[in-house]
Formats: sequence, structure tokens, C-alpha cells
Amino acid sequence: MLMRNIDYASNQLNKIRIRISNALQSAGRQENEVTLIGAAKQQHAGLCDEFCRAGLTAIGENFVQEAIARQRAMSCTDIEWHYIGRIQSNKTKPICRHFDWVHSVDRLKIAQRFATQNEGRSLQLLIQLNVDDEPTKAGVGVSQAAQLCAQIAELERVQLRGFMVIPEAQAEYSAQRRPFAMARETLDQVNQRYGLEMDSLSMGMSSDLEAAIAEGSTMLRIGTDLFGPRPRA
Ligand SMILES: *Cc1c(COP(=O)(O)O)cnc(C)c1O
Repeated sequence: MLMRNIDYASNQLNKIRIRISNALQSAGRQENEVTLIGAAKQQHAGLCDEFCRAGLTAIGENFVQEAIARQRAMSCTDIEWHYIGRIQSNKTKPICRHFDWVHSVDRLKIAQRFATQNEGRSLQLLIQLNVDDEPTKAGVGVSQAAQLCAQIAELERVQLRGFMVIPEAQAEYSAQRRPFAMARETLDQVNQRYGLEMDSLSMGMSSDLEAAIAEGSTMLRIGTDLFGPRPRA
């Protein structure tokens, strides 16, 4: 059983790495320009351990309590932890303690709390960009992003690295690319306008990773096509 899981994890990792590698090649990009993050929500800690042993180096989490439980239960510990879920302001302290990166910052107050509460190492932050500009969706509208970046960039003990986007699901490749292109362009514009050096774009999931890589993604958050379907909670 254990051996089968290790094989399963290696095979799944291999399949995704081939997709990533092909997409990077088509885009004329280098092999090491993208980090693969396993989006682990609802997956068993034992399965995550097998993926970690097979070579997965980063895990993304949507819920703080679930993440802490998984971290405690896992024996393979050489993992970089990424928080990719919605942030409640009363959870910023455990997020500082249990994560290396936060992808879903959407207001100044949250970043300020991280800056105050973070002890020791610097926390890497991404602002979640609402590229569809739908008021019901999480994230900051493109028109407000510049100002928020400038404010967060001033804070100590946090490092602003770029944007995360979760676009509306689209079947067509060209439609998938459009919001990712917008995120890339916004990053370039804000960097220029404020003299910042943001270098990270967290974009691309199971169904649109090729489009995201074509538009400059540096971090993929892959759940289903890596771990397999999520078990029902
Ligand atoms: C679940 C999730 C993913 C991964 O989605 P898949 O389609 O299963 O690859 C990526 N990002 C976020 C924020 C998620 O919640």
C-alpha cells in the first residue's frame, strides 16, 4: 500500500512536471522559473507525505486550522508553506507562525497586522488581484492595486512579491490567457510607477496552467491534477 502510494505520487508529479516543462518550452522560458505548489485542501496528511517524499517542495492551504492539523500530522517536513485562502483578520497571527508565503492579501489592514505580528523571518506577500472586477469576488480591483502595493511595500518584516489571480473558469485557451496577461501587465506597470521589484505571479491551476505559464506565471497552485480528486469532507 505504502509503495503504491509512493509510485502514485511520483507518477502524478512526473505528469505535472511534463506539462509544466512543455508549457515553459513553448513560451521560451527556463525550466526553473516556476514553482509547483500542491493545493492540498481536504487531502490526507499521509498522501501529502508521499508527495513530499516524491519531491514536492511546496504546499498551499486554504484554511488555517486544517493547515496546522496537516503540518502536525506530516512526517516529511521539508516543505515551504503557502497560505492561499481567504484571510480573516483574527487569523493573521497563526498565519505568520505557520506559513512562509501568503498569496491572498486583499487589504492594507491585513498586511499591517502581518508586519506587526511577524517575528523573525520575513513573510512573503502577494496581493490577490480581482481581474474580473466582480464585486462579489475576493481580491483587489486592478484600479486599486497600485496604491495598495505602494502602501504594503513600505511595511517592515513583510516582503511584497507580486500578485495571485483566480480568474473565472474558461474553457478556451485564449480566454484563459487574458486575465493572466492583465495580471502580468499590472505587475509591470506598478513596478515601474513605484520603483518596486515584485517578481512573482501566482497563477495557474489544474485546468489552466499552460495559459498561466504562457503569460509569465512563477507559481502554480495545483490540486486535482496533482493529488487526484478531493475526498469529500
Ligand atoms: C483548490 C485551489 C487550487 C487548486 O485547484 P485545482 O483546480 O484542484 O487544481 C488553486 N488555488 C486555490 C486558491 C484553490 O483554492
